[in-house]
Amino acid sequence: MIEKSREKNQILSEIITETVFKYLTDAGLTSNQDFTIPVEVSNHHVHLTREALDVLFGQNYQLTKVRDISQPGEFASNEKVTLTSSKMRMIEDVRIVGPLRAYNQVELTVADGYALGLSLPTRLSGDIVGSQSITIIGPKGALNLPEGAIRAARHIHMTQDDAKKYNVTNNQHVKVEVEGENGVIFKNVIIRVSDTSKLAFHIDIEEANAANVQGTSYCRILYK
Ligand SMILES: [Zn+2]
Repeated sequence: MIEKSREKNQILSEIITETVFKYLTDAGLTSNQDFTIPVEVSNHHVHLTREALDVLFGQNYQLTKVRDISQPGEFASNEKVTLTSSKMRMIEDVRIVGPLRAYNQVELTVADGYALGLSLPTRLSGDIVGSQSITIIGPKGALNLPEGAIRAARHIHMTQDDAKKYNVTNNQHVKVEVEGENGVIFKNVIIRVSDTSKLAFHIDIEEANAANVQGTSYCRILYK
């Protein structure tokens, strides 16, 4: 008899916990969690099409891999290019990130923008319409892009399961806190859900320096 009532209490307490949690979640009141999302930092880099690589490095040139990076399939290549702006300013040794893509994109930092005399729009990868013009120079040729130079919008890659776990949805904008005494809270971090992605908060090197990110750092999403 005592066992039975214990069991009932157990079930009742589980139902209450679940209901309260659902209420809090629906109200956007989920409590802040531990720092569990890895922070990954990128320096300026270039994504190219097959045609662009042909112009810059020669017909059918193949990128050579230095190491795998970040998202599955992506790699840092040995190949580097020089960038110039219409203001006749230049940045050398900018790495190409493979594999080749369907569009050309140059991801720069704010300081790079100052160096080149360009006001860079903050955009998600792939959203390059109306972005800045830039010229890419390789060992075999040069290519002027009418658009394609951006400052990458900070974002978190995650799978559908992660999205469920963190109670967020694709394209949602969230606040993210980087751990540590000199950590920083970033606003307008965009959630990017895809089942081929690996959980990571992506920021550029200047944002990372500002947040004192060194080695392996973690962050968390801040809830209301
Ligand atoms: Zn990313």
